Amino acid sequence: MNDERSEQHINLDAFNDHGEARASLTWDEYFILIALFTSLRSKDPRSKVGAVLVNREKHIVGTGYNGFVREADENFFNWRSDGEWLQTKYPYVVHAEQNAILNATTSELADCSIYTTLFPCNECARIIAQKRIKDVIYLSGKHMELDSRKATQVIFEASGVKCRQMALPPFETLAQSVVKNLFP
Ligand SMILES: [Zn+2]
Repeated sequence: MNDERSEQHINLDAFNDHGEARASLTWDEYFILIALFTSLRSKDPRSKVGAVLVNREKHIVGTGYNGFVREADENFFNWRSDGEWLQTKYPYVVHAEQNAILNATTSELADCSIYTTLFPCNECARIIAQKRIKDVIYLSGKHMELDSRKATQVIFEASGVKCRQMALPPFETLAQSVVKNLFP
């Protein structure tokens, strides 16, 4: 086991080389893992996204995942991603980042960070920048080739929103680490 960490990769080894000290998660690791677990609440069979809003004191002030409007009759919608636009999920789904912002415990989100499992689309990017959220930390860069993601980069650059990608360890490492902590 080694005790090295980098900004990019999460090292969840629970013990140091002597089997003594326990490592703990960094804040980045902690919040991105919460975003990942939050994504599991989504009913979208193809794309589950989670987001966590964190203030300067490292307190979580909002979480969200992609889903249809709260308390709406879901029989009106479906999760189709191809076909005629009105028959797909796209016009109806509230994105994870939007839900995190809309459900936040405070409307003052300036200088907050948002941890999200997927690089934000331009619609979410506009809202993130408008709320003066200062940092975006994301896991997956899927769909980066789309114009909507290029627009996101323009919005972030123009409004000074900092954006960086994180990587997760293989899930075996994650699971082993959890088990090691539970049953040392
Ligand atoms: Zn979005």
